[in-house]
Amino acid sequence: MKSPAGLSSAALRLDVFGVVQGVGFRPFVVRLARRFRLTGWVKNDGRGVQIHVEGGTRGDRERFAGAIETDRPPLARIERVTSRTVPVRGYRDFKVRASGRSGNFVFISPDISVCPACRDEIRDPGNRRFGYPFTNCTDCGPRYTIVRDLPYDRPQTTMADFPLCPDCRREYHDPLDRRYHAQPIACPVCGPSVALRNARTGKTVPGGIEKAADLVRRGKILAVKGLGGFHLVCDPADAGAVARLRRVKKRAVKPLALMVRDISVARRIARISPPEAAALESDRRPIVLVQKRVELPGVAPGLNEVGIMLPYTPLHVLLLDRIKMIVATSSNPKDAPIIKDESEGFSGLCDYILTHNRPIHMRADDSVVRIIREAPVFLRRARGYVPYPQPVPRGFAGARPILALGAELKNTVSVFKNGYVVTSQFLGDLDEYRNRMYFEETLAHLTGLFRVKPACVVSDLHPDFHTTRIAERMGLPHFRVQHHHAHVLAVLLEHGLEPGTRVLGIVWDGYGYGLNGEAWGGEFLIAGYDGFNRFARFEPKPLPGGDLAAREPWRMALSYLWSPGLKAIPAIPGLRPVDPARRRAVWEMIASETHSPLASSCGRLFDAVSALTGLAPLRNEYEAEAAVRLEAAAAPGRTRPYAFMLHDGNPKTLSFDATIREIISDIKRGVSPAIVSARFHETLASAAVETAEKARRELGIRTIVLGGGVFCNRRLLGRVEDLLTKSGFSVLRPRQYSPNDESISVGQVAFALARLSPSG
Ligand code: ZN
Ligand code: ZN
Ligand code: FE
Repeated sequence: MKSPAGLSSAALRLDVFGVVQGVGFRPFVVRLARRFRLTGWVKNDGRGVQIHVEGGTRGDRERFAGAIETDRPPLARIERVTSRTVPVRGYRDFKVRASGRSGNFVFISPDISVCPACRDEIRDPGNRRFGYPFTNCTDCGPRYTIVRDLPYDRPQTTMADFPLCPDCRREYHDPLDRRYHAQPIACPVCGPSVALRNARTGKTVPGGIEKAADLVRRGKILAVKGLGGFHLVCDPADAGAVARLRRVKKRAVKPLALMVRDISVARRIARISPPEAAALESDRRPIVLVQKRVELPGVAPGLNEVGIMLPYTPLHVLLLDRIKMIVATSSNPKDAPIIKDESEGFSGLCDYILTHNRPIHMRADDSVVRIIREAPVFLRRARGYVPYPQPVPRGFAGARPILALGAELKNTVSVFKNGYVVTSQFLGDLDEYRNRMYFEETLAHLTGLFRVKPACVVSDLHPDFHTTRIAERMGLPHFRVQHHHAHVLAVLLEHGLEPGTRVLGIVWDGYGYGLNGEAWGGEFLIAGYDGFNRFARFEPKPLPGGDLAAREPWRMALSYLWSPGLKAIPAIPGLRPVDPARRRAVWEMIASETHSPLASSCGRLFDAVSALTGLAPLRNEYEAEAAVRLEAAAAPGRTRPYAFMLHDGNPKTLSFDATIREIISDIKRGVSPAIVSARFHETLASAAVETAEKARRELGIRTIVLGGGVFCNRRLLGRVEDLLTKSGFSVLRPRQYSPNDESISVGQVAFALARLSPSG
């Protein structure tokens, strides 16, 4: 019989789930147990960490259990802790127990920027790691990009070829040392080293990082090896160097990111809000798009924002200690994946290469965020965030493993196992051959690393996407998910909404294959995990020239201008740069309905307005360039929407013909593009709210999900969220994933979960 006294002398068994391996968790538990004078053990297991504690008072053990969550190491992410009382075993001390190999889902940390303690060491002349660019500890350093296989032990990483020196070995085996079990641990005696090379001759140049900084100052272009690949680097204050970098990258206008020494340098070139500063200084170190304060010629032409990041490896810290600001753009030939190895060739991309001999196993670009209404929106999710696991709603946790291949542009892949989704880094556009290799390389890596044997594969509905064809060849049960439905499902999943939820998904993007085979992209879907109904959509308009219409914004301007009975092309100043013969040919194309498939795309409406105002380029250099320029031009402050119409029907149709007419009359009256852009954004926000209110009146919808690449637009997302909230809706937007097609594979997982789950 158990008395209260007997209970109080019981032992406690804790199971900790989450990212708790390779992040210094076991030494932390040892120190904690010693603090509370408890005995027992800690060990890694298949899903996290197991702990047995006994001794002390019941209060001690409970405070210990509480501190597991509150005092956890910075890189640990605890999803769940379960505890139960177990019999006392009479342990006399507290130890780390060996862990058995397990086929279960073990999480691994993303790559984390150099921590303050390591940064201090490399700047301290008295420290044995002074000036050493590969310094790291259990709180920081490379992870995902150097892991070849699990369990996460040094021989399974690209550090395998660097045997530890006696000093490093002592640190590695001392449970009280900051580097206890830090797998990438290194020092100048035993670790990797940098080399500076002439890119043309291949000859080594003496001087290392010091010399590299000097070369940048002298106008040279350098390739610098970082965590997930090489950057191309030059001096942003040297307009000639920037122009040359643009020539070699074959990029005339696409914005280049900057890396700056610290937040005070960032504040000199941009206006930085507190949440933006927090994002810049976070240990994930993404590129943050912030408001320009000064114009650096050629860095982000025609835009009011510039992308900035802070140094995230010791090598970057040491370089930026010597030159306070650099252009740091991913080193890749146009449209190809980021270069991870010198052998992939820098043919003519740079003058010098600052490289090192720690191999990169997995490529990863820099992540890019924008802070909108105080919270980050991912424009690209990669280094620092991948491969964080995403728990799925409880009703789905029991499903069998799933592999989702994503869409086609801005692709990612996702795997599901044991209640969690892991999504790959941004992989780029799969229409490019080299990105398909990157896709295959990442797919093999993720399924291998997490031991995923998928019970099914999921792809887009589009019959001609590479991912759809790859899925078909896999010989597994195959689900195909409508593109915009997947956008909604990604948001439902990350917000943990349970099966049975029904929302209005407002999904605005450039293009997705519709149920009827038409091009969709201005969608209002009444949706849940089990399916969707198309409640409303943008009025379909011809895409003259098909895919070309997405590249040449003026084609969409003509498409929106055209109406039956209109004989001549209206004279709009924005269309003057277009060759008159091409203008007439496209006008004819629309009139005769040749090569002009219909699309209800929001992205193409942006193109049309951007071209009418004269802000769009003749041809987009990068995806959504015309839309980005239109957004950048918008005048600040409140403004009135233009007219638009919501027509009843199944689906309902939002027509912006009246909007276009008012825009043309504004332009003819000499109203500035800034005002037209502001009013256009306000029009779309009003249209979203009016349609949502209709869905509430007719169907009782109270929750709105926002998705699709158009919602990377700061002004639009901010305004839509604001107006919907004021109207009383609960609004969910993507937080952990991008609104763009990087989240499609996540939504595809959700779709399959609903079909594989016992409760689904
Ligand atoms: Zn550190
Ligand atoms: Zn060493
Ligand atoms: Fe999309």
